[in-house]
Amino acid sequence: MTEIIDGEAVAADVRDAVAAEVTRLSDRGVEPGLATVLMSDDPASETYVSMKQRDCEEVGIESVHVELDADAPASELYETIDDLNGRGDVHGVLVQLPVPAHVDKRSVLRRIDPEKDVDGFHPENVGRLVAGDARFKPCTPHGVQKLLAAYDVETEGADAVVVGRSNIVGKPMANLLIQKTDQGNATTTVCHSRTEDLETKLRAADIVVAAAGVPEMITGDMLSEDTVVIDVGINRVETDEGSELVGDVDFESATEKASAITPVPGGVGPMTIAVLLANTVTAAARIHGVAEPARS
Ligand code: NAD
Repeated sequence: MTEIIDGEAVAADVRDAVAAEVTRLSDRGVEPGLATVLMSDDPASETYVSMKQRDCEEVGIESVHVELDADAPASELYETIDDLNGRGDVHGVLVQLPVPAHVDKRSVLRRIDPEKDVDGFHPENVGRLVAGDARFKPCTPHGVQKLLAAYDVETEGADAVVVGRSNIVGKPMANLLIQKTDQGNATTTVCHSRTEDLETKLRAADIVVAAAGVPEMITGDMLSEDTVVIDVGINRVETDEGSELVGDVDFESATEKASAITPVPGGVGPMTIAVLLANTVTAAARIHGVAEPARS
């Protein structure tokens, strides 16, 4: 029978651990704080930021929020980041992506203090991840690793296929899966928009991580029996009743083949913010020299 991987439940466990760590830090005079910066009128970005603030509050992390006009000059965003980098009450700085077209995303990511880069997107942190010495593991791929671990999915020696090569999901996901760690040691293939014969690669996989941003592109007939399917995709599609969220995997047909599968919503999504909170308390512990939580 196909196991439905319950991201809400695993994320709740992560948040409980974070809340306990916040209490431990608070007893030592450290109050972890996360700053979110929004420079966009995109309703989805606004929703993501408010979800992050809500979850911060739930676990006891202070949140600071800065909103900039979407047409403000890039310099305003840089100054905001500089200010947050310098604040003692802020341990994590997150600029909600995407930023407007007139702002250079790379310059933004480079501007964030690597010690406060809880998304793990600063090039120094990307380099450390690739070198097997991650300072912060990027939230979504690390969330996927935690889901696999929570459901005892063996990655060592497994053939994993990651569909998507973005800097925020596909590439760091593949990097984590190939690391010589308990949750790595997989033989990993990265597929992308120019991959030929995706189906053959998918059928050879023990673990598929879909992060293409194409609604329900992976169907059951493209998978082998007993594949573990992790669907990172979040796509809003029109329906007769309005709209709904679907993943990159056709859940119904894939469920007939998969040994375990994440639903959308309720799979990877909740993990992303939970890991962000965990990274924030890790940052606070390091910045204040209080022994940091055990890494996983
Ligand atoms: P992206 O658009 O930056 O990258 C998509 C990648 O998929 C690209 O590398 C592209 O080469 C590849 N791709 C596109 N079409 C393909 C095809 N037909 N076959 C094979 N590969 C193809 O997207 P992203 O930021 O990596 O996000 C991917 C999806 O994950 C989106 O649906 C996004 O909303 C979702 N997402 C979810 C979370 C979460 O918390 N669950 C976090 C980030 C992104």
